Amino acid sequence: MSLLELKGLSVTYAGNVPAVRGVDLSVAPGEVLGIAGESGCGKSTITSAVLRLLPKSAKVGGQVLLDGEDVYGMSFGRLRAMRWAEASIVFQGALHSLNAVQTIGKQIAEPILLHEKVSRQAAERRVGELLEQVGLPARRAKDYPHQLSGGQRQRVMIALALACRPRLVIADEPTTALDVMVQAQVLDLLSGLVRELGLALIMISHDLSVLGAVCDRVAVMYAGQIVEEGPAKDIFDDSRHPYSAALAGAFPRVGDELFRYAPRGLPGDPPYPSDLPSGCAFHPRCPVALDRCAETEVSLADLGEGRSSACLRACEEDLDLRGAS
Ligand code: ADP
Ligand code: MG
Repeated sequence: MSLLELKGLSVTYAGNVPAVRGVDLSVAPGEVLGIAGESGCGKSTITSAVLRLLPKSAKVGGQVLLDGEDVYGMSFGRLRAMRWAEASIVFQGALHSLNAVQTIGKQIAEPILLHEKVSRQAAERRVGELLEQVGLPARRAKDYPHQLSGGQRQRVMIALALACRPRLVIADEPTTALDVMVQAQVLDLLSGLVRELGLALIMISHDLSVLGAVCDRVAVMYAGQIVEEGPAKDIFDDSRHPYSAALAGAFPRVGDELFRYAPRGLPGDPPYPSDLPSGCAFHPRCPVALDRCAETEVSLADLGEGRSSACLRACEEDLDLRGAS
């Protein structure tokens, strides 16, 4: 059974900005779900919608079910408890979210003392365990944020997110600010914790190659909608939507022949949500678009084998989605 289920989720910000448009997604305990897409596609809006952190002026449609319970039907007390003890977020840029004048031990102990009826000593013990779980010696609890490297601070953020033993963790671009080596370590750590603790993890990134390596399934977002979903490796190696193909090509793995011989960037930017093109929102940038792509709304269609795509041409055989025929 799914731990988190989004049913037709839509979010419209004030000023008629439809940032998320009818998203269905689910993630089960022990599963890593990736959400990919360029900046502005609505990924962080989904993160905020799950924990009800959107501005009051935003309109939310559809449902967010956490273990079957409607998050938008929760009382504020229930919501507060849920935010630490059931679902938590690891944000990008740990440097800015940690308090510079408090030791990291104190900061990790705070939610534990607030949400669990434990003594200060028990909380300190748990802080030590958490630090070791994320690969830092327990004695680092005495350090201040500036005494840690960027990668170590991101580990502290993960320890913080795990402090109250949540069952769902959303990591929103957790490694974007880190260098490549440290990125790989942090991602390994996160996916290891999923196996060890049986967490459900949603990993958000603009980099499809990162998601391909650590996720079970990936959903690719464009202009507030999911345009392709399926097993992570399939989406990277054998995309069924030209946007996924472009993302896979934009972040090639070493030795990717196709990219070396036909490097194709993806020109332009995603549309602003209040100014969406007609038909398929991707058609103005699509290398294989036909006239009818500008006229026909496309929705996600089942392709079998756990895969789905929102492209009119997804079922055409021998179509090179990168347009490099
Ligand atoms: P991503 O995380 O994929 O980069 P976001 O969810 O942050 O995308 O943003 C999706 C769209 O919603 C963007 O066009 C962004 O400008 C817009 N947006 C985000 N937050 C707000 C807000 N508070 N008010 C109005 N528009 C917003
Ligand atoms: Mg974002």
